[in-house]
Amino acid sequence: MRKATQLLASIVLLSAFASAHAFSDPTVYVTEQGKAYHKKNCTLKHGSTGMKLSEAKKKGYKPCKVCKPAT
Ligand SMILES: [Zn+2]
Repeated sequence: MRKATQLLASIVLLSAFASAHAFSDPTVYVTEQGKAYHKKNCTLKHGSTGMKLSEAKKKGYKPCKVCKPAT
């Protein structure tokens, strides 16, 4: 039974980590030709696509200097 308890504890810890991570991973917006990601209300993000912050960073986008999204 000891193993089962440890497994359960790791699952609880993992899901707590996952939800905390999701909370700090907001949706940001990138434009087709731009190299930066933007906040929802940025004036420079015309025709942009929404994606997760972590995804935008993975793809090499930099934070916009105008709207200063989370990094
Ligand atoms: Zn911007």
